[in-house]
Amino acid sequence: MKAQPKGSHFIDGSYAEDAAGAVIEVVYPGTGEVIARLHEATPALVERALASAARAQKAWAALRPVERGRILNRAAALIRARGEALAQLETLDTGKPIQETRVADWPSGADALEYFAGLAPTVTGETIPLGGDMVYTIREALGVCVGIGAWNYPSQIACWKSAPALAMGNAMIFKPSEVTPLGALKLAEIFIEAGLPPGLFNVLQGRGAVGAGLISDPRVAKVSLTGSVATGQKVYARAAEGLRHVTMELGGKSPLILFDDASLEDAVGAAMLANFYSAGQVCSNGTRVFVQKGLKERFLARLKERAEKIVLGDPQDEGTQMGPLVSALQLEKVTGFIARAKAEGARLVTGGGRGPQNDGWFVEPTVFADVTDHMELAREEVFGPVMAVLDFDSEEEVIARANASDFGLAAGVFTRDIARAHRVIGQLEAGTCWINAYNLTPVEAPFGGVKLSGVGRENGHAAIEHYSQVRSVYLGLSPVDAPY
Ligand code: NDP
Repeated sequence: MKAQPKGSHFIDGSYAEDAAGAVIEVVYPGTGEVIARLHEATPALVERALASAARAQKAWAALRPVERGRILNRAAALIRARGEALAQLETLDTGKPIQETRVADWPSGADALEYFAGLAPTVTGETIPLGGDMVYTIREALGVCVGIGAWNYPSQIACWKSAPALAMGNAMIFKPSEVTPLGALKLAEIFIEAGLPPGLFNVLQGRGAVGAGLISDPRVAKVSLTGSVATGQKVYARAAEGLRHVTMELGGKSPLILFDDASLEDAVGAAMLANFYSAGQVCSNGTRVFVQKGLKERFLARLKERAEKIVLGDPQDEGTQMGPLVSALQLEKVTGFIARAKAEGARLVTGGGRGPQNDGWFVEPTVFADVTDHMELAREEVFGPVMAVLDFDSEEEVIARANASDFGLAAGVFTRDIARAHRVIGQLEAGTCWINAYNLTPVEAPFGGVKLSGVGRENGHAAIEHYSQVRSVYLGLSPVDAPY
């Protein structure tokens, strides 16, 4: 089989297998071909992963941060050296075009490793003078952290979670989505080659139940999930039983607001990036595109022209700009949304079909105009290449409508009026915002949502706080004043 790993899991420094676990077939979305056959983790393997992580973590946390950083930097260098092979594997696992996986997925993971490698030695406590006595604080690792990934950016998610976790002296057990399980195993291999002691990054395969079991174990201090709101609510509730730390990176229905004075080409380019990259399977996508009425028809005409030139096809082909959706299930969901949007009276501007092949799991870049706030397309996350265009008159109106959502992951504003840009962004209820840009997520910037889109932040200095805790030490320097 094309991409069969040496084992389904990676535990304590090597591949592990237990054929008693239910079978997971890994399918290349480009053709539907089975490229690997894995097994879900059995309780015995889960126990091995937890025991080895708990054992390895103490010594790892006791190392100088600069030494931990050196190992993460070596891992990043190995990722960069093997960039092409890793991109090919990511394309097989996800069906995303090789154009994208070469520049976005693993390279962004390597950025995270380098960034947190550099940050690790800079994390210090503080001293708090008390006029004689004093307090000092210690920022320390949490212990064993569980990472649970979604299928859209499997290797990037594994890196974004493990880099700050390991930099701060934690161990991580990572459970990839069963739909895209291959990249995390490569990351585990790379970590060992870079000198990471065994047990600090274990990978367990499985469906939701495996992740759910991990979260309840008393040895686990934290869970970081990237997934849907529904899963987030379940995982958060389970973590709460043990008062475990959480990071929740969940879904969105983010507004992208285009004012009349925006550059037409930039606005169209950003709206396409915000809806069609990775065939629209991006959590922070700007899927509610609010266009001011003066720009609307010019915008739609140019958008249609450019969207119809997007090249759909074999993800392994260098010329392909958009691949298939990740699975048959996702195809069914997305085509269902398209059918219901038509039925609800949204105007189909372009797309809506299955592409030139009219087979496989492809969906054309699709644009609906005249979408209104109450339509399903304006309220629910589609996770496919389907853009909803809504129109608006005034700034006040669009802010209120943009915020009328339970989600709050991301938001974007395009305007040449810089005062308006800041004024509008300042009032939008979203964790990750862009002005005259969209969906750029450099590791230096904290990333995450508000409202139902999440809790905690990945990337930036903020992530360090979410993978550590502060203890304070009172230092008595004066005689003890006891009233007895
Ligand atoms: P899911 O919520 O279906 O799954 C996410 C992960 O959680 C998977 O590994 C899944 O395993 C696991 N899981 C499912 N149920 C449980 C449970 N009860 N306990 C523990 N783990 C469980 O999301 P998808 O994989 O379908 O990904 C798409 C979603 O992810 C979208 O909503 C998207 O917006 C969101 N997302 C958010 C991002 C962000 O950073 N905010 C980034 C990327 C995606 P399995 O799949 O094997 O069942």
